[in-house]
Amino acid sequence: MKRILTGLLVVVMLAGVGAWFLRGDLAIRLMERRLAVGMATNVVAGLPDGLHVAVCGSGGPFPDGDRGAPCTAVIAGKRLFIVDTGEAAGRTLGRMGIAGNSVVLLTHFHSDHIDGLGNVAMQRWAGGNLPTPLKLYGPPGVEQVAAGFTQAYVADSSYRTAHHGEGVAPPSGAGIEARPFAFPEGRDSVVVLEEDGVKITAFKVDHGPVEPAVGYRFDYKGRSVVISGDAAPSPNVTRFATGADLLVHEALSPRLVGLIEKAALKAGNTKRAKIMNDILNYHTTPEQAADIATKAGAKVLLLNHIVPPLPLRALEGPFLGQARKIFAGPLWIARDGDLISLPAGSSDITRKRLLR
Ligand SMILES: [Zn+2]
Ligand SMILES: [Zn+2]
Repeated sequence: MKRILTGLLVVVMLAGVGAWFLRGDLAIRLMERRLAVGMATNVVAGLPDGLHVAVCGSGGPFPDGDRGAPCTAVIAGKRLFIVDTGEAAGRTLGRMGIAGNSVVLLTHFHSDHIDGLGNVAMQRWAGGNLPTPLKLYGPPGVEQVAAGFTQAYVADSSYRTAHHGEGVAPPSGAGIEARPFAFPEGRDSVVVLEEDGVKITAFKVDHGPVEPAVGYRFDYKGRSVVISGDAAPSPNVTRFATGADLLVHEALSPRLVGLIEKAALKAGNTKRAKIMNDILNYHTTPEQAADIATKAGAKVLLLNHIVPPLPLRALEGPFLGQARKIFAGPLWIARDGDLISLPAGSSDITRKRLLR
């Protein structure tokens, strides 16, 4: 009897080991299939003509396992623009399958909006065999950001050219070229780019003491997207979002940030508590964003720069407060991996996921 039981145990163990090896084989086959599909897919080229918004970072500066720091990609026709490059921007764009000869636009120079810039520039260059540097648009001060990141990556780009050759990593394509724009005397907006049917307008927003800070409006073939950037409620956002198809607006919940302040005070961390109190005055609540979208007559409101992090889905209700009652149209809380599409020649606005 004992011998039979031992035999059975050996058989079960061998079967387990066999299944374990088989599991590895299956995983390798799945990986091969995924790679074949991934290599053959160009998400940007495959999109229908129109405007598309890919959320490559829907969080703010807080550590957040679900949301990367601010990054919003706008695809207009076949052109790829990236508004802000927060930490993880390059990796999230890569996971979404979004690549190409991108142009970056910065809303302002707070660390959470630029700390992924080096990686975005490197990925564009090393992945695309491009002979010219990344173009970086922004208000005055953008020159310093471009020069600093370029300098920090001098060694990295030289290694890559030495390792892969000038044919794959041409030195002329490394680094970042600043394209600063200024507002004409007495004006608070300026067209920063008009090419291939795409018009991008920058407008001033209120994010004091951060100055300058801007939002952007994209127009392409009758469709429009407005991105507020970081801002307290700003009349210019309402003005430039008038009649827009999609308003992407930052949002901060004072109620939830207040919980962090309370916990910090309880733990004796008065500096952290002060910061939580300070940040309330240069951001916008979800309810205020809903009011702006309503006044502007925007068709859809997408909230991004979600502060604080929402580790539980059930916190979305308290985060929004009364916002859904204020704005009658679709109101979405952005998640990394979202793709919002506004096809040309249509009034459709659809949302799907590029990340599971
Ligand atoms: Zn920010
Ligand atoms: Zn900011």
